[in-house]
Amino acid sequence: MTGRATPRGAYTASPCRACRTPKPSRFYLCGNCWDQLTPATRRALKRHDGQALARLRQLHTHIDSGLPLADLEITS
Ligand SMILES: [Zn+2]
Repeated sequence: MTGRATPRGAYTASPCRACRTPKPSRFYLCGNCWDQLTPATRRALKRHDGQALARLRQLHTHIDSGLPLADLEITS
């Protein structure tokens, strides 16, 4: 939590799940957090197939449990 206020109406996008930085809604994470993922994880998350939602859920579960982004391994 940064405690920094976001200007009202300045962003229509959702905040980054990991650090709450506003980001375009088409991205899963802001650029900073995305860079902390391993290349293999980034590749997996960029794949759009039948498992894309399951992988996104893994990402969210990982973030919600407070683990470092670099530790995330996408298994599906
Ligand atoms: Zn972030």
